[in-house]
Amino acid sequence: MQLVWFKRDLRLHDHAPLAAAARHGPVVGVYLFEPEVFGAPDADAQHLAFVVECVHELRARLRRRGGELLLRTGNAVEQLATLVQDLGATAIWSHEETGNGLTYARDRRVRAWARARGVPLHELPSGGVVRRLVSRDGWSAQWDAMVRAPLVRPPARFAPLPWTDPAADHVVPSPGEPPTATELGVRAHAPRTHSVRGGEHSAHATLASFLALRGVDYRRAMSSPLTAFDACSRISAHLAFGTLSGRQAWQGARRRAEALTETPDADPRWRGAITSFISRLAWRDHFMQKLESEPRIEYEPFASAYAELRPREPDPERLAAWLNGRTGYPFVDACMRALRAEGWLNFRMRAMLVSFASYHLWLPWQATSKALAPHFLDYEPGIHYSQFQMQSGTTGINTVRIYNPYKQGHDQDPEGSFIRRWVPELAGVPTEDLHAPHEMPALVAQMADVRLGRDYPHPIVNHATAYREAKARLFAVRDSAVARAEAAAVFERHGSRRARRA
Ligand SMILES: Cc1cc2nc3c(=O)[nH]c(=O)nc-3n(C[C@H](O)[C@H](O)[C@H](O)COP(=O)(O)OP(=O)(O)OC[C@H]3O[C@@H](n4cnc5c(N)ncnc54)[C@H](O)[C@@H]3O)c2cc1C
Repeated sequence: MQLVWFKRDLRLHDHAPLAAAARHGPVVGVYLFEPEVFGAPDADAQHLAFVVECVHELRARLRRRGGELLLRTGNAVEQLATLVQDLGATAIWSHEETGNGLTYARDRRVRAWARARGVPLHELPSGGVVRRLVSRDGWSAQWDAMVRAPLVRPPARFAPLPWTDPAADHVVPSPGEPPTATELGVRAHAPRTHSVRGGEHSAHATLASFLALRGVDYRRAMSSPLTAFDACSRISAHLAFGTLSGRQAWQGARRRAEALTETPDADPRWRGAITSFISRLAWRDHFMQKLESEPRIEYEPFASAYAELRPREPDPERLAAWLNGRTGYPFVDACMRALRAEGWLNFRMRAMLVSFASYHLWLPWQATSKALAPHFLDYEPGIHYSQFQMQSGTTGINTVRIYNPYKQGHDQDPEGSFIRRWVPELAGVPTEDLHAPHEMPALVAQMADVRLGRDYPHPIVNHATAYREAKARLFAVRDSAVARAEAAAVFERHGSRRARRA
């Protein structure tokens, strides 16, 4: 009996550990709902709801081929030990996971337990992320080979499970059901519309609709929150929970690109759209590799020269204003409220939210990254912490980008319809005053029926002053000899060897 431990790889197809396990005997899958992981501050009830949809579908898919998926709640070592004993399993198979500090420590405990008990534990690579990577040189070539390799097929039929033989004296294990959010101790940080459904079916349908229809204007439309919700692929949660592999997405995009070359009358925007999408799939693993190589970047800056740049403890009022969408910057607040309601936001607006928190509000990224993690359905630690650091200037190797929230608002929401939707208290404000309502003449405010300080806050900081101060503080460190020397070491360890991406 082979036990396949599903983690953030909730799929049947292109699942190497599952296929390898099946070559050794009957297969039982297990998904563990770990209170430690789901009860942590970076988890949210939306993640649990998504996982529940995924495991129900995965169980049905496995059963159709004669397999099974057990659901268990509890500590990983204890649950695996019980299962190995009860099932008489001779090996455990899983993907290597590049997760947060908790799952990293849990995997070490599981490995130590398996070693001590003599249980073979086979952990296979996940996508293009390389465990114990020695050098970034050659990483891209390895990644290219990985995405081009054939997809791993699941067996059409698994070997019969021992308890399906009526003559065998084998106890049938209880399949188990998912726990409720309360049982698991997972928090719901905000009420949400569940915009992306879990499961492999939804993953492939989402990718297909992007590649066939929604993605045509991807390059332009990805920047504005007015268009990005529809024009971006929206596969991020599927990649994060593994209902789709990066290789499946890459090969789907390549097939589409090839089909386009044979369709001369196709919209010319498609070619660029697919190229941009494909490069982002590589970015995903590029960023995850950073956390895999240095798990400490969840808590510490890439470059230690920036360790004392910001206070360790966030200013609680500023943090609350930012997180609740009440900074007095309408476009920033609209983006935050949209994210909290939908569980998703486009890249540029995520970057602006973090830039605003890190530069304008001078909040430590360690606090803001933890606070925002539960609000992303697609929370992926490897991308999340790398991006938070990038947008906070603490990697030492990336171009510093301090977003001007007013400019972003005018560029990405020129008519103010996004602001009106998410900051309804400003709905009556004329468009020319909407991005900076504190500058609105008193008479206009009266006609719009808005009183600043009562209905909507005054700007929490002055943009020009905050921008100037942040830049001066950051560059005082960045220009130091220590930071410069460290930057070279960070690049050596993490920098992309492909042009234009650090
Ligand atoms: C502060 C901050 C935090 C972020 N946290 C996460 C996170 O927790 N999980 C997450 O998946 N993405 C994160 N991103 C990256 C990016 O915003 C999302 O991947 C993207 O918005 C997801 O939507 P999509 O699937 O429609 O992306 P698409 O634009 O359609 O891209 C396809 C896929 O490529 C990958 N990708 C796209 N952009 C990036 C990028 N800049 N870096 C790395 N991979 C990328 C993602 O896997 C994405 O699903 C973060 C960005 C920022 C600025």
